[in-house]
Amino acid sequence: MKKIGILGSTGSIGTQTLDIVRANPELLQVEVLAAGRNVDLMEKQAREFSPKLAVMWEEKAYEELKTRLTDTSIRVCRGMEGLIEASTYPTVEMLVTAVVGMIGIRPTIAAMKAGKDIALANKETLVTAGHIIMPLAKEAGVSVLPVDSEHSAIFQSLQGNRQNRIHKILLTASGGPFRGRTTEQLQNVRVEDALKHPNWTMGRKITIDSATLVNKGLEVMEAKWLFNVDYDQIQVVVHPQSVVHSMVEYEDGAVMAQLGTPDMKLPIQYALFYPDRKPLAGERLDFYRLGQLTFEAPDTDTFRALKLAVNAGRTGGTMPTVFNAANEMAVSLFLQKKISFLKITDIIEACMERHTPVPDPDVEEILSAEQETYAHIREMAL
Ligand code: NDP
Repeated sequence: MKKIGILGSTGSIGTQTLDIVRANPELLQVEVLAAGRNVDLMEKQAREFSPKLAVMWEEKAYEELKTRLTDTSIRVCRGMEGLIEASTYPTVEMLVTAVVGMIGIRPTIAAMKAGKDIALANKETLVTAGHIIMPLAKEAGVSVLPVDSEHSAIFQSLQGNRQNRIHKILLTASGGPFRGRTTEQLQNVRVEDALKHPNWTMGRKITIDSATLVNKGLEVMEAKWLFNVDYDQIQVVVHPQSVVHSMVEYEDGAVMAQLGTPDMKLPIQYALFYPDRKPLAGERLDFYRLGQLTFEAPDTDTFRALKLAVNAGRTGGTMPTVFNAANEMAVSLFLQKKISFLKITDIIEACMERHTPVPDPDVEEILSAEQETYAHIREMAL
């Protein structure tokens, strides 16, 4: 029986993780749950899975949950203190980090220091603090297992080959809902259009990130840290069918890939049970009906965010934080219909241009670069 904690249990990855727990009650046990403000769902989850601790980020949500769970023995906590307590909870063996955004940095680091393995969905943590997280994993003797489908595919393609050097990582991208469009055609796209991902059902922020290709940019940085490769060794390949989830090319030219239907449960489950594979219900690939699989280069002139991400990664220091923070705030403004779709990338670029990166930043410096970026955007005439 593996005892797990989930940060972001009410979100897309969090609820799918709980589906896996539900299907494997004799193998997985939920010790702690944490989320932002969705009290209704958290109450349901708490009653179903009986964790020892339930955490809400928001004060009001915390008060409400506490009142609602008075008839149970579940302890209820709030805020960052609560997230840290959840992450370091003594009986938790593995923490699934499925919160959205940089809020995940401190709890992830705290969990690792407390000896917990990490099933990492929260890519923003690795993008901004990969230089802290990866050495810490070694030092603390814990594993960081990828949940992101592309990185899980790479990780799966590395099994049995770990002693061999990676020549290249081929990171596949669906291209998002606007693949093939020109800048002109993107001028007036609506929030509703950007939220229609062709293949995957995900949270709102990552769905917008997929439409701008910011997500692929974040994934390039994530891959750099997870697999210890240079940026020159990562090639983004647009593959609209999302069947090949990513590939590894070895020095002899052999390419290993992982294929599957677009279902996040597989990579989540692989991380939870690694190195074992367990049965998983759901649709399977039918190669007779698959038709064509196509591959092409990304259009980085129209989707400039991908280029900006690679530049941010190569620059290093606090630049990936600025890229990420600028995107987080710009996406939130876009979702509130306060800025246009193209403005997201313009804002990221403007913030990066203004920033002088701090090399090898500690957590404080990362968080202050984040705040500085938000302040800069607030000053912009949008
Ligand atoms: P969602 O928006 O669906 O869910 C986010 C979760 O984080 C919710 O449970 C939310 O709680 C919680 N949350 C937000 N802010 C806080 C906070 N301050 N404190 C505690 N909890 C908080 O996101 P996704 O599940 O789509 O994505 C989660 C992460 O996984 C992201 O980093 C994303 O990039 C990554 N990822 C997602 C994939 C997907 O298929 N969805 C694929 C690969 C990676 P509440 O709703 O209660 O406010």
